[in-house]
Amino acid sequence: MIVTNTVKQTKEQIKKWQKAGKSIGFVPTMGYLHEGHQSLIQESIAHNDITVVSIFVNPTQFGANEDLDKYPRDFAADSSLCQEAGVDLIFHPEPDAMYPPGFCSLVDITRLKYSLCGKSRPDHFQGVCTVVAKLFNIVNPDRAYFGQKDAQQLTIIKQMAKDLDFDIEIVGCQIIREADGLAKSSRNSYLTPQQREQATILNKALVQAQSHARSGFTDIAGLKEEMIATINTMPLADIDYVEIVDSKTLEPVMEFNDDILIALAVRFGATRLIDNTTIPFKQEEK
Ligand code: AMP
Repeated sequence: MIVTNTVKQTKEQIKKWQKAGKSIGFVPTMGYLHEGHQSLIQESIAHNDITVVSIFVNPTQFGANEDLDKYPRDFAADSSLCQEAGVDLIFHPEPDAMYPPGFCSLVDITRLKYSLCGKSRPDHFQGVCTVVAKLFNIVNPDRAYFGQKDAQQLTIIKQMAKDLDFDIEIVGCQIIREADGLAKSSRNSYLTPQQREQATILNKALVQAQSHARSGFTDIAGLKEEMIATINTMPLADIDYVEIVDSKTLEPVMEFNDDILIALAVRFGATRLIDNTTIPFKQEEK
């Protein structure tokens, strides 16, 4: 497994592989890898000759009062996980290698970023689009793998790749959960035992809403209120948002007449967790 820190080294190695006719799969991450990341890596390995993982805690997607400095990092553990999984190259740049002095270009989108996480993180998706566009240009993959866990990010990246003519297949991968249903996240490591226990309510609220929606319950406002009430049974849960949106536009819906995304963000202390589920619209429900 090769580890690179600079854009130049990375491009040179990838060009060698591409000259030899190899297909490239790419998994962008911020490190502190867990089974969620691992599942993306496995998908890439299954469908490409070469798998590249980037590990970069991207400063430009963090707001001023967010957790950039304390974001968990463990390159030695990440590196072993990648090695064991069969990753071919880890790109592990320092911020200066990605944003050298004089850097002043940004990639932004004008839809999809104002709802859900964009409301409380106004500059987040500009940071994500900019770094992902840069990484796409550096790695030049055939396919790139993103988790459905960050549903808004996945939708935005698909749109950006289409709009900017990146010739890359964006592959969405299912959410990997702990045994008790909590979505795996690098940020789960911040939780105290009590917060960790209470955080299981997020998946419970989603599963409850899912079963109501599937059994033909179409009162969207009622569904949302019920989820809020369920989450609020946990005294340590502080809701940022619970939203039921159109899965394509990410705008709130009042009626169930297309596929919907039920998404939430909830704080436990300073730790903000997100989760979601998608419910396909069944024609006979009309
Ligand atoms: P991060 O390191 O948190 O930026 O995540 C890197 C990639 O892994 C993103 O595409 C995430 O959506 C994905 N990911 C993170 N957690 C999970 C999970 N529990 N299941 C599936 N994918 C995940």
